[in-house]
Amino acid sequence: MNQKKLPAVAYFSMEFGLHSDFKMYAGGLGILAGDYIKGAKDINAPIIPIGLKWKQGYTDQKIDASGNPYDSYYNYVYDFLEDTGVKVTVKVRKTDVVCKVWKTDHFGNNPLYLLDTDIPENADAWITGQLYGWFGEERIAQEIVLGIGGVKAMRALGIPIDVYHFNEGHAALAATELIREKMSSGDTFEEAWKATREEVVFTTHTPIKEGNETHPLDRLEYMSAFNGLTRDQMERLGGEPFNMTVAGLRLSRISNAVAQLHADTANKMWKEVAGRSSIIGITNAIHTPTWVDERMTRAFEEGGDLWATHKEIKGELISFIKERSGISLNADNLLIGFSRRAAPYKRSDLIFSQPEIIEPYLETGKVQIVFSGKAHPLDDNGKKIVSNLVAMMKKYPKSVVFLENYDMTIGAQLTRGSDIWLNNPRRPLEASGTSGMKAAMNGVLNCSILDGWWPEACIDGENGWQIGDGFETTDFAVLDQHDSDALYDTLLKRVVPTFYENQTKWVQMMKKSIEATRIEFATKRMLEEYYNRMYIKN
Ligand SMILES: *Cc1c(COP(=O)(O)O)cnc(C)c1O
Repeated sequence: MNQKKLPAVAYFSMEFGLHSDFKMYAGGLGILAGDYIKGAKDINAPIIPIGLKWKQGYTDQKIDASGNPYDSYYNYVYDFLEDTGVKVTVKVRKTDVVCKVWKTDHFGNNPLYLLDTDIPENADAWITGQLYGWFGEERIAQEIVLGIGGVKAMRALGIPIDVYHFNEGHAALAATELIREKMSSGDTFEEAWKATREEVVFTTHTPIKEGNETHPLDRLEYMSAFNGLTRDQMERLGGEPFNMTVAGLRLSRISNAVAQLHADTANKMWKEVAGRSSIIGITNAIHTPTWVDERMTRAFEEGGDLWATHKEIKGELISFIKERSGISLNADNLLIGFSRRAAPYKRSDLIFSQPEIIEPYLETGKVQIVFSGKAHPLDDNGKKIVSNLVAMMKKYPKSVVFLENYDMTIGAQLTRGSDIWLNNPRRPLEASGTSGMKAAMNGVLNCSILDGWWPEACIDGENGWQIGDGFETTDFAVLDQHDSDALYDTLLKRVVPTFYENQTKWVQMMKKSIEATRIEFATKRMLEEYYNRMYIKN
């Protein structure tokens, strides 16, 4: 790409996963954003990331003595943040809230601007306290700071912006500021909306209904989120209740989903929304230097011994697991990695669904599984899933492990040291799933339902395995039974025999897995697509 001509893009995101110890992220959305701005730096792309400076971050998960998860929070302090000297003011509940603007490029990323309300002049210092914390009012206040404050920060810093990219609906209120600016220089609402749409692009993520946030207009009004617009204008943008995704779709000239299958799903899901932009598919990618073990890259590029390299890295994972959990796994036996947010559609316990089938493998340790994953602090069902996994660890102490407090460190260890990366969501609910890309590029073979990104890479039995045949039904009892049978079929009839009886084939598959993914699912390809298909006007 010719840098001189590239539009400058303000990239708004509620979370950025740049490093394990920099608690600005919760999960996949944040990891994507973190990788995005590291990848932008690598290719010199003028992307200007904007987020919030979380004081406590997302929850730190701990497991109590009876095996149930609980949440804990700490105030984190970072000494590498630069003070830009800039402060902007937004209105929350009719009160001025001052947002201090920090900046950091500490992790090899494009300079990231973070807005912070935890300063002495604010009574409402709590706004940037907890990521995805508690109730609607808090979330709206955070979104006012991110969206409206973010636009004001760009103005105050004097950074010219050509395109505003909303990574998820969280940033949609930024558009109220873009519209307000234009109206204050004489545009009608219609003109301002139209012109704003020309400069906004939008990425939609989860196709789970609850993941698409809504707020009653009354609540938005009470929180001062209208930002000078009328109730009727707000309703036209996002409906009643105001849906942040719908607003994103109506406020953008083009939108994207994060995998090709997800684009189909999202277009179906939002087809009733009048006046929306069209949703294309740009499949997520990962920042390879962050996630791929250098030894594996070297072995692959120089024709080294992939198996010996993998064994070395797997040995390190086994030590890591021992350190964290006290459990010693067997380095010669199959090790399955599974780390996901504890959400029902991800079905972490599908592998236990028919105990009579899987138990013998767990008893002998022929199949070993390491789990990790957080539940949202308010999600009791998610917590139950975690408790179940911990109970399985107690039941099969030689072969099942749950590592508490899933973060980037655990993510990196598991996706480079496991033999198999298991993924069995209810299709088509997994938007993309970047952990599978991390695994694939480390020669860790994916064994996955054909959901998210996987249908784009999978050559079944050659560079990984598919579970089932892409079957879909909204009858979850039927779907879960079907997929449980398919999972055992793939795992026990194909994966296990290959692992124990045909190492040559296994290593060939590792090689093909790396080959199929290392360029196609790396940030450079993704960023070029965003430029060519979203940012640069055709
Ligand atoms: C990679 C990663 C994710 C995203 O993975 P999914 O495949 O979407 O589940 C989430 N959290 C952490 C800590 C990660 O490293």
